[in-house]
This record gives sequence, structure tokens and C-alpha cells, in this order.
Amino acid sequence: MNPPKVALVIPAFNETPVLPELFARLDGVFAGRPDVAWSVILIDDGSRDATAAMIAAQCGRDPRYRMIGLSRNFGFQAALMAGLEHAVEFDAVVTMDADLQDPPEVIPQLVDAWRQGASVVLAVRRSRAESGLRRLGFEVFHRVFGRLVDVAIERNTGTFGLLDRAAVAAFNHLPEAHRFFPGLRAWLGFPRTDVLYDRKDRAAGQPGQSIVRLVRYALDGLFSFSRLPLRLLTLCGLFIAGLGFAVGLFFIVRRLMGIEIAQVGFTTLVTLVLFLGGVQLIGIGVLGEYLGRVYDEVKRRPNYIVRQRIGFE
Ligand code: UDP
Ligand code: MG
Repeated sequence: MNPPKVALVIPAFNETPVLPELFARLDGVFAGRPDVAWSVILIDDGSRDATAAMIAAQCGRDPRYRMIGLSRNFGFQAALMAGLEHAVEFDAVVTMDADLQDPPEVIPQLVDAWRQGASVVLAVRRSRAESGLRRLGFEVFHRVFGRLVDVAIERNTGTFGLLDRAAVAAFNHLPEAHRFFPGLRAWLGFPRTDVLYDRKDRAAGQPGQSIVRLVRYALDGLFSFSRLPLRLLTLCGLFIAGLGFAVGLFFIVRRLMGIEIAQVGFTTLVTLVLFLGGVQLIGIGVLGEYLGRVYDEVKRRPNYIVRQRIGFE
């Protein structure tokens, strides 16, 4: 029987400080599991340092390594997509970060779980090494998100995991441009297993995803998996309209009964006008978020442009 073909899909953006250790640790893992035909697909997401050159050199040294070079920095989700779309020939694909926060030593467990019948294997964090604001952000996001969205997304999971051939094909068939990988992976379904691991801090270098980008990513996840913001607007509108109706009725009845009406003061008016104006603007903003996404989807622009491929015949 032929050994199963497993590819690792790893987006990398300015990762020169971690690449040597990544290659060394992957080689260690591969050496321990000769029963699997390993490949590594590294996606250079328009890095501005020597990342592309280092990956190309590694491809020259070791035929198991391949590279996809994108024409500019398209962001993690797009890079991941590029990798998955180039990995259809494999029996299973492991998705992971380049910065060794997802320890490569866990990969054999993912493969074993797949060999035992799971189509999707999620690496679930037992612990997380980040601290401070970043950690708080992740925690709040997962808590809030878990309550809001329409598909249940496993808490404490990220990119790290394994998809079998069918799951990869299904993912590649999804039509949308805005992609939130953990959410879509949950949406896909398929028999699933979890593997626990300890998440490390990145081995070297700085996180390439700024807080701003992570917030954008979180909003992407929220708006593409939930209509709750729209529903909240409707509820808010109903509430304010109801209140207006009640107050109006109150004054009409008083007037009809001949009770004198007190003059509404300037402060009250200003407060009401500002409050309602604010609510309306927020409403337009939320509509805009959805409309902008619709616009992006309608444009049908590719999510990434490939500049260079190494190792793909
Ligand atoms: N990454 C990428 N494109 C980007 C930013 C990041 O491909 O524009 C890669 C990066 O090289 C790493 C992974 O995405 O492999 C996760 O990025 P990072 O560690 O910076 O983010 P975090 O761990 O905070 O989510
Ligand atoms: Mg990281």
C-alpha cells in the first residue's frame, strides 16, 4: 500500500527569524514518521524580508518543500486559500502558522486521528501563551462570537488542524471572497475529532498581524456568520418607535383632557435629536458593513495573485 500523502500548508509573512527552526523541527517530525509521504507548501505572502529566498533555497535542498509566492501581501486568509487550492492532490492537508505557535510535534497526532476515520481534525488549545491585550482580545472574541453566530465554532481552535481530501475540495468550492477559516471549517461539517495541545508563544520575530487586522478579522467573522447586528437594529428601531408612540399618546390624551402641556426644554430636544441621530448613523454603518461585503463578493475579484510557483509541475 502506498503511504498516505500529507501536505502541510503554511502561510508565511516576514518570517525569516523562525524559518530555520521551522524547517529543522519539521524535518525532525518527518524523520519520526517515515510511514507518511510528507510535503510542505509554504506560501510567501508578499514578505518584505528574505522569507521568499529562504523558502526557495529550502525547496532546492529538499524536494518535499514547495513554494507559492504571492504578488503582494494579501493577508493570512488569502494565503491560506492559495495553499489549499494548490493542495488538492493530497490525501490530507494540515493547516498551520509558520511561527511555531502551532507545534509541529502535534502533527503526527492529527494524522493518526485522521487515519482513525475523522475527515476534519481540530487542534484544540489546552493553553495559550499570549498575554495582555492580545489575549484579552482573543478571549472576548471567542466568548462573544460563540454566542452570536449561526454555526457553532469550537472555542480554542484556530487555523491549526487537518482536512482530508474531501474537506479540502469542499472548502475550495466555497464561493465567497470573505473567508473566515475556522468558521467555514465548522460550517463544512464532516466527521470531526479534536486533538489537545499547548499553544506556544511565537518562536521569534513579531506577530505580523496587527491588532487592527485582528479586529478586522473578528468583524469579518461576525458579519459573515451572523445577522444579529441587523436584527438588533430592527429591535432597537421597534423599541424607539414604540416609545415614541406611547409618549405621543400620552400627550394627546393630556391635551384632550385639557391639562396644560409643559414646554419641552432645549436640553431635552438636543439630547433626543443627538441620540436618535446616533442610532440612525450606527444603523447605516451596520448596513454598510453588510453592503460592503456584498459589493466585494459581487466583484468576483480573485483573492490572491500568484507570482511564482516552485515544486508544482
Ligand atoms: N501571515 C500571513 N500574512 C499576513 C500576516 C501573517 O501569511 O499578512 C502569517 C504569518 O506568517 C504566520 C500566520 O500568518 O504564519 C499567523 O500570523 P501571526 O503569528 O502574525 O498572527 P497571530 O499568531 O497573532 O494570529
Ligand atoms: Mg502567531
